[in-house]
Amino acid sequence: MRKRSARATDTGQRTTIRNQRGGAARRIGIFGGTYDPIHIGHLRSAEEARERLGLDVVLFIPTADPPHKARRLAPAAHRLAMVRLALAGNAGFRVSPIEIERAGRSYTIDTLRALRERLPPDTALTLLIGLDAFRDIGTWKDYRTLFSLADLAVWSRPPHDFAAPLDLLPVAARGDFCYGRNDKTLRHRTGTHIRFVTVTALDISASAIRQRLLRGQSIRYLVPPTVERYLRRHRLYVGRHGES
Ligand code: ATP
Repeated sequence: MRKRSARATDTGQRTTIRNQRGGAARRIGIFGGTYDPIHIGHLRSAEEARERLGLDVVLFIPTADPPHKARRLAPAAHRLAMVRLALAGNAGFRVSPIEIERAGRSYTIDTLRALRERLPPDTALTLLIGLDAFRDIGTWKDYRTLFSLADLAVWSRPPHDFAAPLDLLPVAARGDFCYGRNDKTLRHRTGTHIRFVTVTALDISASAIRQRLLRGQSIRYLVPPTVERYLRRHRLYVGRHGES
């Protein structure tokens, strides 16, 4: 049976993602990650990005289990279940299993194309991405096309002055952009934008959480209590699904 994301309705190929008032979300932030596991750093930065960028919802998209990964991830079903638990109660957050259902390597360009096909044509998509990941964007599949499919919001933690954001782009793509309304916004030749924002620095990483679990240390206040209980109940990252 086809899985559905919470409060999203599928009608054939079309999907409606609900905003906080139950209408169709028009401004959607796309936040992909391994979420291995999801933690407070993800949640807080997504909340700040939603508020700052005026998004109706942030759509969390856990990656599938890539076949050629450097590290074995916890099973996708567990990572998805923990994201669902973590987002519960926040009507501005939604989860999509689109990459997990597709399986295989998770390419952002494929996800954006699939969302574009399923969502109403007037939906504005903003890809939310950490500065660390953005620095590697030149290695992503079809990254120059990706810039034309969605706006990007790049966030940094700790604060970064983003003095010359054009220099953060791969050299081959710089000619496709000019400065927009201010020197913190880049405008793509197709009309999309890249914005640069600073979010509250919470020095939390999934890898540090996995290490703590492996050592039998507390992860209290690093993840929501529901996620902590799930991790304990399923004995995740204590050896069998941990670092490899
Ligand atoms: P790992 O430690 O396993 O590399 P991670 O905690 O960085 O994982 P991912 O799921 O790979 O988590 O991250 C998804 C996105 O969330 C990335 O864009 C990353 O930059 C961002 N991110 C991760 N941790 C934080 C944090 N503490 N604050 C803000 N953004 C974060």
